[in-house]
Amino acid sequence: MKPPRFDYEDPRTLPEALALLRQHGEDAKVLAGGQSLVPALNMRLTAPRLLVDLNRIPELAYIRSDGDMLAIGAMTRHAEVEHSPLVADWQPLLREAVRHVGHVQIRNRGTVGGSLAHADPAAELPAVWACLDGRFRIAGTGGVREVGPDDFFVMYYTTCIEPGEILVEVRLPRLPETAGYAFVEMARRSGDFAIVGVACVVDMGGDGAVREARIALTGVGTTPIRARGAEAVLQGERPGEKVFAEAGRKVREAVEPESDIHATAEYRRHLSDVLTRRALRLAVRQAQRGAEA
Ligand SMILES: Cc1cc2nc3c(=O)[nH]c(=O)nc-3n(C[C@H](O)[C@H](O)[C@H](O)COP(=O)(O)OP(=O)(O)OC[C@H]3O[C@@H](n4cnc5c(N)ncnc54)[C@H](O)[C@@H]3O)c2cc1C
Repeated sequence: MKPPRFDYEDPRTLPEALALLRQHGEDAKVLAGGQSLVPALNMRLTAPRLLVDLNRIPELAYIRSDGDMLAIGAMTRHAEVEHSPLVADWQPLLREAVRHVGHVQIRNRGTVGGSLAHADPAAELPAVWACLDGRFRIAGTGGVREVGPDDFFVMYYTTCIEPGEILVEVRLPRLPETAGYAFVEMARRSGDFAIVGVACVVDMGGDGAVREARIALTGVGTTPIRARGAEAVLQGERPGEKVFAEAGRKVREAVEPESDIHATAEYRRHLSDVLTRRALRLAVRQAQRGAEA
């Protein structure tokens, strides 16, 4: 399969890239790792007249701490995140999740910004940003605006990024020392998109009760789903199988999966419950181990 004809520009700075996008409007699309865009072009699911390649803009690729936030440039590759000591230390939930993204070749090329901007509801990183209330910095002609996940993710493959705008940086808060985390998913084969995935963080108070729980799921809606009802069930409770089962039940009620060739809606609902309980067990055990150390 071959893509339709398109023009190609490879600007060296962000202002140059923004100027090209402004000039060409809806006819232009940015190219990041190409791991989703190039297959879509080849299958003729999209036909932009111009590709604006971001790969020669060094200012868009970095991982650094900024106050109590981890800041990641949109063009940072999945593999850089996977192997970053700063990510391992500050936000190991992200490291855990990114290991589930495709295969090593895809992680070497695909970018964090590309994955979030593509907004596949089955992808792992959107669930991490939904779970942690991560931030999205979007540059356009009027400067940079910052939004959270509820505004960013609109629908299947749709975000609030407007034509002429570029996602430039994404941010996550540092994981508290009292917290445990887990990312679990069920895929048919290693490296496949998950049928269902669960990201969770459990912060424990000194009294052995849950101070705060955060749960988000992938593969069960048109966007990543934050399970706030299940989080509320855990708040202030001593963790254990009874409360995990209640949280799983709440998640099962909250998700809105569809049936497709990979799984029925009912199976996805069942998996959401089972994987939530599994993720909570792992996160709590880890938080408790941290408290003992
Ligand atoms: C075989 C295979 C298996 C995969 N498995 C998984 C998986 O298990 N889990 C998973 O999450 N992903 C998976 N992926 C997708 C992979 O994660 C891609 O890296 C990701 O979806 C897109 O990132 P990219 O950098 O390649 O973006 P591109 O493909 O270059 O772009 C994707 C879209 O986002 C837009 N875009 C990109 N960057 C920006 C930006 N900075 N600002 C605004 N818009 C932007 C582009 O215009 C395009 O519309 C898989 C891909 C393949 C080919």
